[in-house]
Amino acid sequence: MKDQDIPLLEVKNLESYISTPKGEMKPVNGVSFSIQKGEIVALVGESGSGKSVTSLSIMQLNDSAIKYKSGSIISLNEVNLLDLNEKEMRKIRGNRIAMVFQDPMFSLNPLHPIGEQIAESIVLQKKVKYKEALKTALDLLKKVGIPDAERRLKDYPHQLSGGMRQRIMIAIALACKPDLLIADEPTTALDVTIQAQVLNLLRNLQQEFGLSILLITHDLGVVAETADRVLVMYCGKIVEEGSVNDIFESPRHPYTKGLMESIPAIHGTSEETLAAIPGVVPNLLELPAGCNFVKRCAYATEKCKTDEPSLLQHPSGNKVACWHPLKEGEVIRHAAAVSYS
Ligand code: SF4
Repeated sequence: MKDQDIPLLEVKNLESYISTPKGEMKPVNGVSFSIQKGEIVALVGESGSGKSVTSLSIMQLNDSAIKYKSGSIISLNEVNLLDLNEKEMRKIRGNRIAMVFQDPMFSLNPLHPIGEQIAESIVLQKKVKYKEALKTALDLLKKVGIPDAERRLKDYPHQLSGGMRQRIMIAIALACKPDLLIADEPTTALDVTIQAQVLNLLRNLQQEFGLSILLITHDLGVVAETADRVLVMYCGKIVEEGSVNDIFESPRHPYTKGLMESIPAIHGTSEETLAAIPGVVPNLLELPAGCNFVKRCAYATEKCKTDEPSLLQHPSGNKVACWHPLKEGEVIRHAAAVSYS
């Protein structure tokens, strides 16, 4: 097997659960996927689909309420991250895998200049002298496109715009040259122009450093702009997987198709109505017996109510978890009021 065929990260049948007074629920329920070196993989889905818990599980930054049940997260050096203790995991975080969150204000310390914050994270991870780390911090600020970088090193977080703060977080994440960057809704808090700049920056960094990126987002516009491959998550499971082209051009799962139809078309008219997926994501404690999407799906049959579909290879190239995958270019029927008792 060639090096480029070995995944940088391989998540196998990951399950995590939360114990509640009403029972055990699984925000991540048997998730498997891999990320190759230099690949940008987007994990998409509505709120509550389990995408953020999946990313936190990789970093093992879950709060104590979330426990792992089974599965493995194998990183490039063949280590199962779930077997590591907190001390060992700290060496992985930052060095091998770094993470950028939605709101940089929560991650930056308001009391210290940003140069100091970047330099200190480099000193901590790389054990270099502070002066050398500060020089690296300056190079990183230039790399992520901060204008007048030398002066900005002395700025406090509140003196920077939202877009600049997110660039600073990306600079901190890149400080130790990680193999994988997990970006959890990195542009959600930014306006559209700045959002495009940050996405461009991620793309450029991926090309320059061969960085792999796991992009967590609910925004399909961001996915179309940035990702190579897409994983669609629903109720803690991956329901469709494919290249960004195949997912956008020819989605096979009714849920994916519904997500696509809820995006405004660039050349659409102002009279055009967007199709919303009917119903809501079910309560994880009360999932249906068969397919989790059954109550919102116009294609549901008796089989869908009783048998759970597995994620299987479809002849189109996508992997789909559905008993009745859509045909190419099929106009979707909408389940306006599907109700099963
Ligand atoms: Fe719809 Fe059935 Fe496919 Fe589920 S398995 S998405 S209910 S057609």
